[in-house]
Amino acid sequence: MKLENFPEDIQPYLIPDLTSDEGGRLIYRCLECGLEYGIEKLLYTCPECGQVLLIYDANFDRLKKISGELWHRIFDYRKMLKISALKGIYLYHEFIGPIIPLDSIVYLGEGHTPVVEANSFLQKKAGIRFYFKNDGQNPSASFKDRGMASAFSYIQFIVSKGYISSDVLAICASTGDTSASAALYASYLKPHVKSAVLLPHKKVTPQQLSQPLGSGASVFEIPGVFDDCMKVVEALSEKYNVALLNSKNAWRILGQESYSYEIAQDFEYDMSDKVVILPIGNAGNITAVMSGFLKFYETGIINTLPKIIGVQSKHANPVYKYYLEPDAGKREFVPVTVRSSVAQAAMIGNPVSMPRVIHLVDIYNSMSDKQKVFFVEVSEQDIMDWELLANRNGHIACTHGGESLAALVSAYEQGIIEKNDVAIVDSTAHALKFSGFQKMYFENSFPEEFEISPNPDLINSPVFIRPKDLEKVPAPGKPLTGEDFKQFVERTSEEIANALDLKKV
Ligand SMILES: *Cc1c(COP(=O)(O)O)cnc(C)c1O
Ligand SMILES: [Zn+2]
Repeated sequence: MKLENFPEDIQPYLIPDLTSDEGGRLIYRCLECGLEYGIEKLLYTCPECGQVLLIYDANFDRLKKISGELWHRIFDYRKMLKISALKGIYLYHEFIGPIIPLDSIVYLGEGHTPVVEANSFLQKKAGIRFYFKNDGQNPSASFKDRGMASAFSYIQFIVSKGYISSDVLAICASTGDTSASAALYASYLKPHVKSAVLLPHKKVTPQQLSQPLGSGASVFEIPGVFDDCMKVVEALSEKYNVALLNSKNAWRILGQESYSYEIAQDFEYDMSDKVVILPIGNAGNITAVMSGFLKFYETGIINTLPKIIGVQSKHANPVYKYYLEPDAGKREFVPVTVRSSVAQAAMIGNPVSMPRVIHLVDIYNSMSDKQKVFFVEVSEQDIMDWELLANRNGHIACTHGGESLAALVSAYEQGIIEKNDVAIVDSTAHALKFSGFQKMYFENSFPEEFEISPNPDLINSPVFIRPKDLEKVPAPGKPLTGEDFKQFVERTSEEIANALDLKKV
């Protein structure tokens, strides 16, 4: 819809105004020593103490001057605008990047992913009402695109300001999806922006490996697991002039907050009885989701903070273990050695964002006057079984979506979730990225360390039909004709009809 056709009172708010002195003022703040730094430079950790940073808006209180109801109208009307820059995560521009001019915004179609209610069969199985939010329907088929849209828009912004040279090498370590996303966004900004990605050898799926290769990135495979790759890119980013794109980069977090904003908008800003469930790997996403809901809460856009449940596999569960200790004073973070997991993108033993999680969980719970953030662990078996069951009921969940659904069931059994709660379950990537695990399940070929044995009811495999009595069948380049072809069609369809037990019309 054209600007002049919107209600007059809403028009001044639809296109963010960056010329006002009253606008946002973003700064990095260290979570350890509290020091603040300007955002002209791309910082990852505090130059004083080495701790991770988060980005704050020093002028955030201006957003509280607009009522919650008016914000609802701004966001709901803004959805009807046809301006590319505001169609993705920057629909929430004031909250995600108030200093980023619209012409620096990179939009590749990310965000506003579908929220799909589970059918009644699956809801009965799970015991409660729930929806999948399909973040696998982002352009590189995972939620990482939300963070990359923000990080690359920021890079375009500081290049346009002349804060950094226009030749940028974007670099990241990845369990597969970060590199797919970083390579995609970098390729859009070529020739100035180039990308290099580091992957743990044989620990990403063939689909995930094909993505950065297809985008033209330099792809390096390193022995070990993700945590080892992370150390190498950290060393590179400290010594060389590169832009680190891992979620250590706080701009990633800002972009991923859009996930919370969308859930709020999807449910008419009513977060009472809502439960948001998501997997934890490097813990960037749960950081962003908590931060996002907190910002909407502080500005009156939502009146309740939803419950948040972070889930980990028993094979990679450092965050879960940390919160097992009920006494906050006695908690101690201990990295774990990860074991093979089908939730491979979350197979991380030493999450970079752990200090951010600890910081935000405290704030989130105290703002709610009760515990609202919970952590659950699930077995590899449950992850696969729930993923496959979901997908047999109309979904496109990845293994991490299965993990989130398994957590819903476990949390309900434990009484963390109540009967009347409504859950939003994060399928963080597309099922197709992890189809190799589905294949292993169907063929009962999981290596022992996964501890997965297939449930026969969930197995599926193709049936080869080749009527034995036929002499000739078609082959590529060698079609059948005449009576032979007629015979082939007739006999093959007969055998399929028999296999399916079809009745004649
Ligand atoms: C990255 C990723 C995760 C884990 O997210 P973190 O922010 O690292 O905790 C989960 N699922 C998928 C599909 C991912 O790509
Ligand atoms: Zn510091």
